[in-house]
Amino acid sequence: MKKKVQILNLLLLSIFITGCGHTHTWEDATCTTPKICIECSEIEGEALGHTTELGKCERCQEFQGKDIFEEIISKVSKTTEKIGNIYKRQNEALTKVTTIEAVYKNMQTTDENIRPLLDDYQVAIDMCGDCAELKDFKDAIQDIVDSYPNFPNTNDYDTVMDYAEGISSTALKIESLGVEAEELSKLY
Ligand SMILES: [Zn+2]
Ligand SMILES: [Zn+2]
Repeated sequence: MKKKVQILNLLLLSIFITGCGHTHTWEDATCTTPKICIECSEIEGEALGHTTELGKCERCQEFQGKDIFEEIISKVSKTTEKIGNIYKRQNEALTKVTTIEAVYKNMQTTDENIRPLLDDYQVAIDMCGDCAELKDFKDAIQDIVDSYPNFPNTNDYDTVMDYAEGISSTALKIESLGVEAEELSKLY
């Protein structure tokens, strides 16, 4: 029995004792550093890598993807500003028109100007990916893209007014998105 224990001890020693004659004292791998012996600096394996490329890393709590994050915020801010300017010009123009046909024509031009900007929002949505910190923001942009009213193909008074109402409520959402983008830009 004693002999068996000795053999076992020898086996364990051969596992723990290394070429440089000491028992490694391992420090666990982190997101950015591999497992390392604090005595001889020998490394084993690789760094674990962060749990996400965009957002807070679940392991080290560090925020990742600052560049992508800033790009998203800047894209949304710029797009929101452009849309805001289009609405502003539209409102100014609408004070000068008197017929429903002219209102309709004006809204059609506005719609054509805004459509490509909704595509810019879509690009920002795609860039958000699964980032938890951007989830509400992403949902808010998606809601604007999804609920943006389709331009009506008839210019009777009621239809145009319904459309105008839809646009007003979307415009409010777009305005608060701009505020939200500003808030998020302070996250860093
Ligand atoms: Zn060592
Ligand atoms: Zn990490």
